[in-house]
Amino acid sequence: MSETETAEKTATKKEKSTFGFQAEINQLLQLMIHALYSNKEIFLRELISNASDAADKLRFENMRDPMLMTEDPELKIHVYYDKEAKTITIRDNGIGMTRDEVMQHLGTIAKSGTREFLNGLSGDKSKDAKLIGQFGVGFYSAFIVAHTVEVITRKAGADPETGVRWSSCGEGSYEVESLRKETRGTDVILHLKEAEEELLNGWQLRRIITKYSDHITLPIYMKKETPPTAEGEEKEAFGPTEEVVNQATALWTLPKAEISDDQYRGLYQHIAHDFEPPLTWSHNKVEGKLEYTYVLYIPQRVPFDLYHNNKPKGLKLYVQRVFIMDDAEQFLPNYLRFVRGIVDSNDLPLNVSRELLQNSRQIDSMRSAIVKRVLSMLESLAKNDKEKYQTFWKAFGPVMKEGPAEDFANKQQIAKLLRFSSTHTNSEQQDVSLEDYIARMPSAQKHLYFVAAETFNAAKNSPHLEVFRKKGIEVLLLSDRVDEWLMSHLNEFEGKTFQSVSRGTLDLGELGEKESSSLQETTVAAFADTIAEMKTVLGDRVKDIRLTDRLTDSPACIVVDEHDMSAQMERLMRAAGQQVPAHKPILELNPTHLMVQQLKKVSGTPHFSDWTWVLLDQAVLAEGGHLDDPASFVRRFNQLLLALAEQPQKDKISGE
Ligand code: ADP
Ligand code: MG
Repeated sequence: MSETETAEKTATKKEKSTFGFQAEINQLLQLMIHALYSNKEIFLRELISNASDAADKLRFENMRDPMLMTEDPELKIHVYYDKEAKTITIRDNGIGMTRDEVMQHLGTIAKSGTREFLNGLSGDKSKDAKLIGQFGVGFYSAFIVAHTVEVITRKAGADPETGVRWSSCGEGSYEVESLRKETRGTDVILHLKEAEEELLNGWQLRRIITKYSDHITLPIYMKKETPPTAEGEEKEAFGPTEEVVNQATALWTLPKAEISDDQYRGLYQHIAHDFEPPLTWSHNKVEGKLEYTYVLYIPQRVPFDLYHNNKPKGLKLYVQRVFIMDDAEQFLPNYLRFVRGIVDSNDLPLNVSRELLQNSRQIDSMRSAIVKRVLSMLESLAKNDKEKYQTFWKAFGPVMKEGPAEDFANKQQIAKLLRFSSTHTNSEQQDVSLEDYIARMPSAQKHLYFVAAETFNAAKNSPHLEVFRKKGIEVLLLSDRVDEWLMSHLNEFEGKTFQSVSRGTLDLGELGEKESSSLQETTVAAFADTIAEMKTVLGDRVKDIRLTDRLTDSPACIVVDEHDMSAQMERLMRAAGQQVPAHKPILELNPTHLMVQQLKKVSGTPHFSDWTWVLLDQAVLAEGGHLDDPASFVRRFNQLLLALAEQPQKDKISGE
């Protein structure tokens, strides 16, 4: 190698390169600094959390390659501060990063759905501040207190020459340069903003660490300091110069009574990357044939990516307190994908892989115990804290509704946890349980009635409810997308079958109402000709036309035959791109309604066909359905209006 070549090589090594942040990061940084400012201490939690993750990753890699840790076997974190330089440094001897990893992890946000998340922000700062917590901004929270952040890192097992220095002032770009770093791991150096200099205080930092990071399994070291004296002097301490400032034991190995709520919350925020505390948690130790410990948490808010297919989900898995993997999916079914937590097994091998988890009896048995625990946790939340349960249901109700289809074994238990809107409360808030419904219903009622529509208002105002309102029978109002799916799997609850109010013939006779068969034979006969004439007009468009007593205020409604797919289900399946054969509906007419009586009067006239079509189309619209040919509906409707206007006296629709 010639001298110039070597010189060039060193030169390029030392050269700084500047890169622009991914566009999303710029937006996020500004928003985050504003949103989290009132809670700025969390920067330390986030950086310590990353240091702890880095140590976990190294401990795991070390099982395959035990050389990685020989020179420096004790994994630990240091927090330093320097009053003169106005810096705080968080140092770990964990896995470290290569140059590529630095650029990827600290220059881009790899989470899928980031763009959608940002597009969904309202621009209203206080509202967005709440959302940002669900996103989990981690490393970037350093910029809440720092005007410049430096990261000096080197990958474990790599050459000291492959060290990297990353730095940025959080505005648009960052710099990367290579340097020599003797030790593996990462230093994050925060150059504090002037207003944040009060953080340069050992007691302050200790307080923040115990508040947020006590659960961290690794020791966190700080320089020993004697508490400030009355005169405000700080003296150098004798003896060892460093001390551990956190508890530094795997929290879940301690007896429950020794763990504070703050520690449980801290553990949650570390594993869930959530800024909000959890709604509730459960900590259990299982002994016997299998030995394992787990802590499960129910979050408060929907994570921004709950509905992304590739969202990481599952529990954090440890084997004998050694971190094995994030997002071990096998412990939770899909409908409980919002549950976060850890599971620590004493029986699994340390080199357990995802493949192994998939075909393991042990895992199956742990999984069913964990599922049962989650369900009973939710059950007691519902019983003991209705308000919290509403928060839970608002966030995760639609996901729980996937449960009966997915988890046959626990169907009844899941059903108890379901909450609905109903005609009893008439509120969009879903807070009626099936048990509430059953407790209120007349003893003769055999079915649990529901109506499903695209929106709450469409459900609430459905013509099908008219007779139920009249008779005071409660109907569940369903308008979540998954509701039809749910109902097709639920079938029954506590011996009562579910019945859609828009399906099949309605027999409310069971409720002991004499007038329930109020359709007189004479009425049926009187309309026979009209109905026959309508059938020739509508032809193939309907399966049948008949009179009904289920309506009081509306002239007509659409009914689905007992075994046909419901209109709402058909719409959903089409929206999902599925080919669905169109089912012909049944048109039911209310013989007491003036519109229907008028139709009878125009029998045989040129208006009859327009009247008939308008009635059908109205009934479709009232269901929340879409017309195949809305323009024709409008034209016919206008023709009828004009006909009325032309003959105001002669042909006016009157009461008689
Ligand atoms: P998250 O922790 O949720 O992944 P962060 O924004 O906190 O998100 O960190 C982004 C990524 O940067 C981490 O996933 C990790 O790959 C990398 N990283 C951050 N801090 C460290 C560290 N101290 N050591 C090694 N890698 C780190
Ligand atoms: Mg993090």
